[in-house]
Amino acid sequence: MRRVAVFAAFCAVAFSAGCTVNSSDREASRDFDEARLSMVREQIESRGVRDPRVLAAMEAVPRHELVPEDMRDFAYEDRPLPIGLGQTISQPYIVAAMSEAVRLQGGERVLEVGTGSGYQAAILAELCREVFTIELEKELADRASADLVRLGYHNVRVRHGNGYRGWPEAAPFDAIVVTAAPDQVPPALVEQLAVGGRMVIPVGRSLQDLLLVTRTEQGTEERVLMGVRFVPMRGEKEGAVGDPEADGDGG
Ligand code: SAH
Repeated sequence: MRRVAVFAAFCAVAFSAGCTVNSSDREASRDFDEARLSMVREQIESRGVRDPRVLAAMEAVPRHELVPEDMRDFAYEDRPLPIGLGQTISQPYIVAAMSEAVRLQGGERVLEVGTGSGYQAAILAELCREVFTIELEKELADRASADLVRLGYHNVRVRHGNGYRGWPEAAPFDAIVVTAAPDQVPPALVEQLAVGGRMVIPVGRSLQDLLLVTRTEQGTEERVLMGVRFVPMRGEKEGAVGDPEADGDGG
């Protein structure tokens, strides 16, 4: 009899402990959801991003799931955050503005250069058919690839390699989003843009111009969207010897 009572008491404690954990998890995730909605209203809509699909994507992607554990509480703040190896996840507004600038409608194939955390790739995955994303640092490529699969983004392919080369086997792309800054627009990326395609790219040294490059029948048209500050694009500009080997598509 006593043994039954002890067992029942143990179960009750175990059950309530389980409940406590679950309800605090739920609360945390509700807090993140609320923080994300405020981020969209206060940082993104208020600065003029209007495309409803972009706003919905920014509301949908759990940014806190793509930053390092110790950065989670800051995930919805109005700033870039460190993601390791001296790299950063971009400020939410910049991700939204770049995603809006390439005017996606849903059927496109899009190249991203600079996977980093995978956050911009996840936003693009909400907005188009297929995302190809390249990252120079193997550790970041592997982590982003695993995180994107964990979050259910099966339309993103991550490659460890040098973005100066683009992804010729998958070209042409309807849009290209570059999230590290080269000194000049890499010619291989222009070649891999479809006629009528749009590329957003920060160009310059410490302070950069965010350019919108549109490929036309005759060549390209360029427009400066705003001043930005991205980490530099690194690695051999021509994709020559000494670059990391492209080692498969990961996710
Ligand atoms: N889009 C990312 C932020 C990118 S930070 C996000 O949403 O989190 C820029 C990234 O570009 C860094 O991870 C950096 O390692 C990568 N990078 C720099 N030079 C590169 C190159 N030549 N090819 C591919 N990736 C590059």
